[in-house]
Amino acid sequence: MSEQKRRRVIAGNWKMYKNQKQTRAFFRAFKPLVAEVTDCDIVVAPPFTDIPAAVKAAKGTTIGISSQDVFWEKEGAFTGQISTGMLVEAGCGYAIIGHSERRQFFGETNETVLKKTKAALAAGLTPIVCIGEMLADREAGNTEKVIEEQLKGSVGALTPEEFSRILIAYEPVWAIGTGRTATPEIAAAVHKFVRQCASSRFSPSHGSALRILYGGSVKPENIKGLMAEEELDGALVGGASLDAKSFASLVKDWPR
Ligand code: PEP
Repeated sequence: MSEQKRRRVIAGNWKMYKNQKQTRAFFRAFKPLVAEVTDCDIVVAPPFTDIPAAVKAAKGTTIGISSQDVFWEKEGAFTGQISTGMLVEAGCGYAIIGHSERRQFFGETNETVLKKTKAALAAGLTPIVCIGEMLADREAGNTEKVIEEQLKGSVGALTPEEFSRILIAYEPVWAIGTGRTATPEIAAAVHKFVRQCASSRFSPSHGSALRILYGGSVKPENIKGLMAEEELDGALVGGASLDAKSFASLVKDWPR
């Protein structure tokens, strides 16, 4: 596989936390802390109702704003859904798709992830497509099987050009919000496997260019060890992205 330098991405998933006032306060504190950072893409994914406040607060910076979900239809009688066009109009550049909480609690499947990913790409959004095994899968030795199936179903039917525009977030479900992080070695092994799958489905250059984020209890105390692994191209962060100082330290404090 050809060696390729991939630009790091640190993305914060705020889940259902923060109102508009808290969003503005976060950006007031966060922006000066990361003003000097130029070698990493920074993304914040607030709840839908905070997106306009976040976009306004991030204006004049390179911080990208993401949704936490999206719907694939352009418009229609789909109560509660938000379209890609609405997100683009609001100023989003990214969309998190297929987060394990959506898969576990809201019936998200590989099929719906694929539809959402295609729609996001068509609108010019960068999808952050989440995959990851449950604890029972890992304990049964089925991690690779599950990851391969999720990749095949969620992004396998993209065109090579579409695939070159997505980010993958590997988030072992047992590590999300549990304080239990995958060791850098465990994460790197799965990232390597994801890259192999991408290489055989698309091409070796697609595999080596793919940016894969690790997610699952990433915090200032463990980011250095994780980011020391070349296979890890960044992180998708939940809890530790809610605090401006800790999220800034995740953006800044890893070996360059
Ligand atoms: C997440 O929400 O994607 C996540 C990884 O959460 P946490 O960092 O809190 O485990």
